[in-house]
Amino acid sequence: MSDLSLDKLLKKAENKLQNVHEMVQEKSYELIRQAYKESIFVVITEGFRSIEQQHKLYSQGRTTPGSIVTNAKGGYSYHNYGLAFDIALLDNNGEVDWTIDRRWNKAGEIGKRIGLEWGGDWKSLKDYPHFQYTFGLSLSELRSGKSSEKQTEKASRVLIKY
Ligand SMILES: [Zn+2]
Repeated sequence: MSDLSLDKLLKKAENKLQNVHEMVQEKSYELIRQAYKESIFVVITEGFRSIEQQHKLYSQGRTTPGSIVTNAKGGYSYHNYGLAFDIALLDNNGEVDWTIDRRWNKAGEIGKRIGLEWGGDWKSLKDYPHFQYTFGLSLSELRSGKSSEKQTEKASRVLIKY
């Protein structure tokens, strides 16, 4: 695992986290760091997703080929507001490894410990790679577009709390 330095994982993540809220970026780095200590190698596969990209993803398995991967239409995912990210795990050779095993639960645990919501806890469509941080904002609040002020206000409260 000579290739899998923590610095390298953090660098990889940085490239995927453009347009993601600063605080969510910080939490994703923290997840990577803490998982690394447990020999779990986390990479970020996706952060911000435009509403158009979300629409496309939603049609997969419904009106376009592939299997259903999301229940969220465009504007109905925290990815669309830069408040979510997805991860993958690497094996010791640095290859993406989708085997669902205890490493995923461990990563989920770490994420929750640092205040993230984890898609692995969802009832309807389990989404192990997914983490989000909502600032207590609902998707309808975010869709209404009146959220940025409120988000900042809530963020400052959250920052005090942590
Ligand atoms: Zn996701």
